[in-house]
Amino acid sequence: MCAMKNPVRQTVLLNRLPVRQLHLLRQIGRLADERYVSVYLVGGVVRDLLLKRENWDLDLTVEGNGIAFARQVADRYGAGLAVFERFATARLTFPDGLKMDIATTRRESYAQPAVLPTVQPASIEEDLYRRDFTINAMAMQLNPGQFGRLLDAYGGQRDLRARTIRVLHAGSFQDDPTRIFRAIRFEQRFGFRLERTTLRLLAQAASTNLIQQLSGPRLQNEILLLFAEHDPVRAIARLAQLKLLRFLHRRLCYTKTVKRVVTAAPKALAWWARRFQDSVIDRPIVYLMALSSESSPDVVAAMIRRLALSRVQAENMSAGGSRVDRALKRLTNKGTVRPSQVYRLLADLSDEALVLLLAKQVDMKRGVRLSLLKRHLVAYVKNKAVKTALTGRDLQAMGLQPGPQYKTILGKLLDARIDGMITTEADERALAHRLLKKAVLVVREK
Ligand code: ATP
Repeated sequence: MCAMKNPVRQTVLLNRLPVRQLHLLRQIGRLADERYVSVYLVGGVVRDLLLKRENWDLDLTVEGNGIAFARQVADRYGAGLAVFERFATARLTFPDGLKMDIATTRRESYAQPAVLPTVQPASIEEDLYRRDFTINAMAMQLNPGQFGRLLDAYGGQRDLRARTIRVLHAGSFQDDPTRIFRAIRFEQRFGFRLERTTLRLLAQAASTNLIQQLSGPRLQNEILLLFAEHDPVRAIARLAQLKLLRFLHRRLCYTKTVKRVVTAAPKALAWWARRFQDSVIDRPIVYLMALSSESSPDVVAAMIRRLALSRVQAENMSAGGSRVDRALKRLTNKGTVRPSQVYRLLADLSDEALVLLLAKQVDMKRGVRLSLLKRHLVAYVKNKAVKTALTGRDLQAMGLQPGPQYKTILGKLLDARIDGMITTEADERALAHRLLKKAVLVVREK
């Protein structure tokens, strides 16, 4: 095991934290001294302090019994506590909502590649050695005498300066293939490069079937985290370049068309967010839909299964193909489309599918049709709030017999409202009477 080479005291770094967090960490350091344990801030937050990036995910690790220490912290501050024994970690939620993870320093051993490891208590050096990349393998001690001491045994600062992502040992990707996606995530987020040997090891691991052995939820987690990044377009291109898309489906290709739709997605998302501020979009799913937008329904269905997507996510993915294409074609063709027809074309598409529809048109770069489509979308979202004044009860009171006519007549009333042909309840009643008469005639004729 590598000895601690660089125990620099950098209280200054911790001063970059908000006052509330800094104050709490000092108090926790004092509590650790009282309990004769060493406590450290560790991982991504230390990396981001060095990079001067905001990250208030407080991950702490304790040399000693982390869970027992977490209980003491929870007691002292009245924080909520959730314990995950298997991973020797606990999550605290303080009364003001602040969250903190406290773990026991540990080593991990992998009985088989790609499965979750078994963990055993270990020193802080070993704990740092089990981590994914050097830049994520640094810690800062919090005990008062050592407050702010930076532990960087594996060259994390060097790699931050050199802007490289480097694994700690040659078996890293084999132990845990999710690190392949994590490597791309950090590389793209920070604009770093994969260090040469790391890139070779990654390519080697990617050429085997290791990733296939990952469970659906674990693969889903990595893919959706990657697609939730600020700029997933580059990350998707990198996945394609490293031939990793095949793990979503062997026939998933990053064709020119797919690339154009994916590249258009940020613009479509930005327009949607500006226009409809109340709509909460599942951005990662939009990128996944864009990526599979040219795939056949059976490929999409297999991707849904492989990634163990939820029902809602799966519905979005399935709508992303021909249904979006059909609506797009109709809405951007020559000839007028009535607002009620727009409504019917879009009514069962989710907001995510509508963003995809827009991305497909952004991609076509036909300005006139793009603005037409945007107008349709704005009108559609407005029209979603339109309701008929009459209900089924009113039709019943007018003497309509039970049957499918209810849906048809109410649908026609809604269409007429949306198209502005009628505006008042009285108009609706008059139209309902005319439609009822027709319905009765039709029934009689039969
Ligand atoms: P982000 O900024 O995206 O939250 P992070 O570095 O904080 O990134 P987390 O997933 O929150 O990442 O994990 C916290 C720390 O735990 C990491 O910095 C790393 O030290 C360690 N870690 C997480 N996942 C792995 C893994 N798969 N293998 C090894 N170490 C990991």
